[in-house]
Amino acid sequence: MNQARLSGTKLLAFLLVLSFPNISLAWHDETHLAIAKAAGYQKWYNAAGADMAKLKAGDKENRNHYANNPPDTVVTPKMVLDQVNRYNDPTDENGHLYGAIVASLRDYRSAKASGKYAEYHLAYCAHYVGDLSMPLHNTLYDSFNQQHHPEMDGIVEDEVLNHLERIKIYPIQIKSEDDLVREIERIANLSMKLGYQLEAENRMLSKEEAYVQLGHSASLLKAVLDYTLR
Ligand SMILES: [Zn+2]
Repeated sequence: MNQARLSGTKLLAFLLVLSFPNISLAWHDETHLAIAKAAGYQKWYNAAGADMAKLKAGDKENRNHYANNPPDTVVTPKMVLDQVNRYNDPTDENGHLYGAIVASLRDYRSAKASGKYAEYHLAYCAHYVGDLSMPLHNTLYDSFNQQHHPEMDGIVEDEVLNHLERIKIYPIQIKSEDDLVREIERIANLSMKLGYQLEAENRMLSKEEAYVQLGHSASLLKAVLDYTLR
């Protein structure tokens, strides 16, 4: 390939990235499935579905997968709850991942209560709980984020389903939506802090750090699943 064609290809790739900001950026599929499996989610095989929905729904779905927090943000319960009614809002460019977790679980509970098939709502929730621990889904989509996002998404992808034992579950109790909101707040803050730490140190997430993060998501998902059985 000559130089002109090579740079043309690079330019095309760059333009594609520009026209689909954040699209296809998430823990990769098997990483989402691994979180769901580790949490004991019966329908773990649906946990990557929310990323498939982005392909056709565009920003209506895309904005549910991240929250652009400037440095020094402290995520609060109020911030989480304020995002709930922005669920599926394509115009909310800053994203509303935290609200999406709460909203999808509300949708699950109300669909179930009215006798409808509710499982897909829970599958969305399981996915968003997975995205919550991805550090770069909690920080601004700045040049560091753009540069490191694809590699970080796939950091354990090729091995994670064979190493579920590395995803450590710790006890979380959810007895109410308030409990859920507090846990979202807690994990959002530590994921965001890690994201900006990586940026300050200008380095990639290590595999060890990735498994710790996946443990936060899997532990929260397990608690959510237990809550749905109450
Ligand atoms: Zn996602």
